[in-house]
Amino acid sequence: MKLYNTLSRKIEDFIPNEEGKVKFYTCGPTVYSDAHIGNIRSYIGHDILDKTLRYIGYDVTRIMNITDVGHLTSDSDYGDDKMVESAKKENKNVMDIAGYYTDRFFIDFDLVNNKVPEIVSPATSHIDDYIKIITKLIEKGYAYESGGNIYFDTSKLTEYYQLTNHKEEEMLIGAREGVDKDSNKKNQADFVLWFTKSKFDSQELKWESPWGMGYPGWHIECSGICIHHGGEYIDIHGGGVDNIFPHHTNEIAQSEAYLGHKWCNYWFHNEHLMDETGKMSKSDGATLTVSKLKEKGYDPLSYRFMCLNSHYRKQLVFNYTISNSSEQTYKKLKNRISLIKDDGELDEDAFAFYNKKFITHLEADLNTANAMTLIYDLLKNELINGHTKLELIKSFDKVLSLDLLKKEELREDHDDIIALIKSRNNAKKRKDFELADSIRDELSEKGIVLLDTREGTTYKVVGE
Ligand code: AMP
Ligand code: ZN
Repeated sequence: MKLYNTLSRKIEDFIPNEEGKVKFYTCGPTVYSDAHIGNIRSYIGHDILDKTLRYIGYDVTRIMNITDVGHLTSDSDYGDDKMVESAKKENKNVMDIAGYYTDRFFIDFDLVNNKVPEIVSPATSHIDDYIKIITKLIEKGYAYESGGNIYFDTSKLTEYYQLTNHKEEEMLIGAREGVDKDSNKKNQADFVLWFTKSKFDSQELKWESPWGMGYPGWHIECSGICIHHGGEYIDIHGGGVDNIFPHHTNEIAQSEAYLGHKWCNYWFHNEHLMDETGKMSKSDGATLTVSKLKEKGYDPLSYRFMCLNSHYRKQLVFNYTISNSSEQTYKKLKNRISLIKDDGELDEDAFAFYNKKFITHLEADLNTANAMTLIYDLLKNELINGHTKLELIKSFDKVLSLDLLKKEELREDHDDIIALIKSRNNAKKRKDFELADSIRDELSEKGIVLLDTREGTTYKVVGE
């Protein structure tokens, strides 16, 4: 399997630490508001990687956190805790907010057929882990107390900016998000591991620690949860590209300083979903969610289909024209599949041939668009029987998860269909074959096949 590794900025052969086994960590959502369709795009990318690894035979353990404390309104150390802010706005307590948005997150996560990771852990359930790591970092001289907070000392590392091309001198205060002025810091790149003083008054959730009552910084959460569940070595760690700096940069710094060795070999980052004004973001207010797309009449899986037709490392623009066309293309594809007759015996050679091609596309840094094109090639291939085609599509769908073999819900009821058949017959009498054909095609897209018999036109619902 070839995978782009943000750490080396190259496509590399994927080789896990332990043969046949993969430990894979995904940075989970901050549950202060709904996850927008951009966030869900990232989780679809991770889901495809997870399922591809399983498909080619790896035993995968996937871990994901739920950020319910400590993520400030910036990705760095300034602003308020997003959870606290949201609780204030909605007049609820923080844990209610976390529970509410966690549930809503998993509804949308599931609507696009993402598999829930084996381990899902809220940040508030790992306070002991953070304290343990921070204590050791202080002992080892990598962390210091200043102004009541505990900071990570980035000057103690030989290479802090492993994941990025940043140079120290470029990290000017305010020049980019993630760099702010904090007079408690020895170096401006230092970051908070544990807060006690700043933002303390408004913080609802706080815990006893050797440094006083306080709460963890956002970055330490993922190190704590990942090391707790995944051990000292992890194969893949990922998120959206905005996580590269400062979040993942800081995770590497503190985890490797704590462990005393390299921690994660492959860093996997999904590019953003953009809307016409730029990057889709939660702070934009009117959040477009997968559930909202569904309410508007789109199949959530046509959104997944749209994501899979582009590469995870390319930006993807969302607008309703694209969404409409992906809905139509997705429905057409499903309809074509539903018309395949399940005849013949399994043609093992053909199965192996197409399956190998499918794997080759995915192993090329998850080329899902080529994997999708392969389905169209398969549908066109007249040398392959229906049964083999269906078996292949069933198999591919273990990774794609587009419900390609699931029957469409019948949208038309009997009376509507009969009325359309009558209009079609009238059109034929008038020799308006264009209209007659378009009625037939419209019904066919909904899985309703018209049968012209001597007794008149009847219909059949595909698959029934
Ligand atoms: P958050 O809940 O803000 O921590 O974000 C959850 C995940 O979504 C993170 O992995 C982010 O990197 C990712 N993300 C944020 N915005 C976008 C976007 N517009 N497109 C794709 N992924 C995003
Ligand atoms: Zn994280």
